[in-house]
Amino acid sequence: MLKVYEIYQSIQGEGSQAGMPCVFIRLAGCPLRCSYCDTPQALSPDSGELMSIDTIVDTVMGYLPSLILVTGGEPLAQPECIALLQHLVELRYHVQLETSGAFDITDTPPSVQKILDIKTPASGQEEQNLWGNLALLQEHDEIKFVLANRDDYLWCKKIIEDRLPDTPASILLSPVYNMLQASDLCAWMLEDHLPVRLNMQLHKIIWGGDAVGV
Ligand code: SF4
Repeated sequence: MLKVYEIYQSIQGEGSQAGMPCVFIRLAGCPLRCSYCDTPQALSPDSGELMSIDTIVDTVMGYLPSLILVTGGEPLAQPECIALLQHLVELRYHVQLETSGAFDITDTPPSVQKILDIKTPASGQEEQNLWGNLALLQEHDEIKFVLANRDDYLWCKKIIEDRLPDTPASILLSPVYNMLQASDLCAWMLEDHLPVRLNMQLHKIIWGGDAVGV
């Protein structure tokens, strides 16, 4: 059984699959407290409804998905998330997992496309980064830095240079909505020739920053 906050269909707003129709499975609960968290409603484990994996999969299949994102909260805070991911990949879906980077990803099925967040200083959760996860990433995976200001960017640049020179994964830089201008981030990226991709949150551009369930 898993605590599920919501299951819904929308457009994947971020990363390599941005713009694609996607079914979101948002698991409830997260032990982190990022300053910019945009899903505070799902932080408490009690915010979710207990559902069996079979019920979750049946609900998802009703949307006839081609892409599924398991997100949160922090999905890996619930150990049974691994069994859910395994079940979904056995059904041959394209499955993505968005995780905070604070939980070990060793047991995540290899065919799951992982989107691993790195917590920057402005998040207030930098000490939660589990750096050993970086060595487990594959070519189809993505590393996401959510940046709130210039100091975050300079910290991120140093992490990329020191820890990620040979990563097979794509690196995404995402400005915190309404805190860091994307044009500033673009200028810094171009000036420094970083091997990264600008990651805008399409769903916030389309529906606004306060919209939920989209
Ligand atoms: S890890 Fe994600 S869900 Fe948890 S507090 Fe940070 S932004 Fe929110």
